[in-house]
Amino acid sequence: MLGLVQYHLTNSNALHNLRDNMERRTISRKLRISGIGLHGGRPSSVILQPGREGIIFRRFEIQIPARLDHVVDTTLNTTLGSAGARISTVEHLMACLYGTGITDCEIELEGDEVPALDGSARELVRMIRASGTRLLEGEILPFVVPRRIRLESGTSWIEASPGSFEVTYEIDFPDASIGYQRYCYRGRDFAAEIAPARTFGRMQDVEKMRSLGYALGGSLHNAVVVDGHKVLNPEGLRFPEEFVRHKILDLLGDLWILGRPVEARIHAYKANHGLHIGLAGKILEAGLMGA
Ligand SMILES: [Zn+2]
Repeated sequence: MLGLVQYHLTNSNALHNLRDNMERRTISRKLRISGIGLHGGRPSSVILQPGREGIIFRRFEIQIPARLDHVVDTTLNTTLGSAGARISTVEHLMACLYGTGITDCEIELEGDEVPALDGSARELVRMIRASGTRLLEGEILPFVVPRRIRLESGTSWIEASPGSFEVTYEIDFPDASIGYQRYCYRGRDFAAEIAPARTFGRMQDVEKMRSLGYALGGSLHNAVVVDGHKVLNPEGLRFPEEFVRHKILDLLGDLWILGRPVEARIHAYKANHGLHIGLAGKILEAGLMGA
């Protein structure tokens, strides 16, 4: 915890105000992160290296730029693909890059899924901050949303409206342990407010997800698991509204696929990766670059 606080103080510029043009930034040295994939359950490693061509994943020598046109699946995670190679569950790593102000980075994957670590972005943020970042030449212009954009799917929806950057998220689960939660993130302190929030699952969904090949690596070490009114993790929650904070983490990671900050008021209700990526697509279509 101390490390996070100290990091925040010494790197406050990296937690930039996203309304402004953004500095281009990469990591200062190679970083290797190993673990198991949340869905596949297989060992994997990511090797982050300094870059200057945006955020680019690589697997089997195939380059997969972190761009909307390479999103190939949004079922329970965000998967990128190109030329037959796929990389699953990129959203937490993308959120971490967003939160540390990284605009350019090469990411080699050994395995088919980004390691889950503890189910949040806390460890990734800590590692990137500990190893340092460096500025690149040039600036990134934000997307300015000129009018309200809204997407719906059943009772779920997401919208972006003109205004200063903020993300409001609402969720509503029948489980008493989650229930209705709302959180508003105004871009102040990603490392403290959002990065520690872990992914979560409901006990009754686990068997079904596993039969479909998801959550095979999921455990109490990398997810919050709830069963009705109970949180099964012995250590409990990191925040009373950890669940909705994690949804904001997912959304920020999914929007970072745009490669530019979004100057808009974003509001999501019971949304998912499909709606997040759908909104990114609409912003790309409608957004104006620069203020
Ligand atoms: Zn997530």
